[in-house]
Amino acid sequence: MEGVITKFRTEPYPSSCELARPLSGRYNEFTLPSDTQIKMSKTPAPIRGDRAVYERAISAVPGDLSVGADGGPGCPSSTFQASIDALTAAQREKMNGRTWHEGCPVPLDDLVSIHLNYVGFDDAVHGGVLVVHRKLAKETVEIFGELFAIGFQIERMQPYEDFPVGEIGASNGAVGFNCRPAEDNPKIFSSHAYGISVDINEMTNPYHDPSIGWSPAGSNGDRNRSAPGLLTADSEAVKIFMRHGWIWDGLLDPPDYQHFGKITLGAEDNPLQRPVWATQLQPAPK
Ligand SMILES: [Zn+2]
Repeated sequence: MEGVITKFRTEPYPSSCELARPLSGRYNEFTLPSDTQIKMSKTPAPIRGDRAVYERAISAVPGDLSVGADGGPGCPSSTFQASIDALTAAQREKMNGRTWHEGCPVPLDDLVSIHLNYVGFDDAVHGGVLVVHRKLAKETVEIFGELFAIGFQIERMQPYEDFPVGEIGASNGAVGFNCRPAEDNPKIFSSHAYGISVDINEMTNPYHDPSIGWSPAGSNGDRNRSAPGLLTADSEAVKIFMRHGWIWDGLLDPPDYQHFGKITLGAEDNPLQRPVWATQLQPAPK
């Protein structure tokens, strides 16, 4: 089955495996030729783990997404590719007791593992894994496809459970799901516990804790500097998220420059149960 997408554009990169840095800024406008097609394959990948779980995940999402051609033999793909998979048995085991436990607001069956490629700080294309709620899987792929298309750099992309407790911030990665209390209110769950938010480059984009300052320790909150993967209110990356209805917490006070979260509206405490899901946010007028 094939369908037409209108959301993002990729083009084959030069023949080498590495991305040319000048790609940044080349894709400010996301116009897509109407004949561009996206493959939406429902052919199951090899079943890993419980078949029912896999089928449940795949029914919520369009299947494997890929745009453009693969890289040559021995090269990572030079165009954006992503697949949305149920959590494997091994992943579940790793998460259980670390990033997920009984009492967490989202069952493991409702989470998916997105395998996607991204542009690293070395300008090469790398493969990463993001765990999010299955309801957001498709738009998360679209967002990261658009980040890839503008050459936005991410230092690494591995789930929380791959790191010792407390050490992920220093790894400067992009991460999604983690069942933990909110930083500013230990009585409620963080939006990460619902799988509806993503942190990007935590050291480059720290959050400000009024009592201890910039966190993680050693990070630099200055936004008037140049650094790979730095997020500011004018970043195209921020606009990409907002166009999908995600807010950037760098706009809040105190700021959390690494944090993007899906906005849902309604009276329910659980953000996943609210009736209105933002499809687009506009930057505030200056
Ligand atoms: Zn966060």
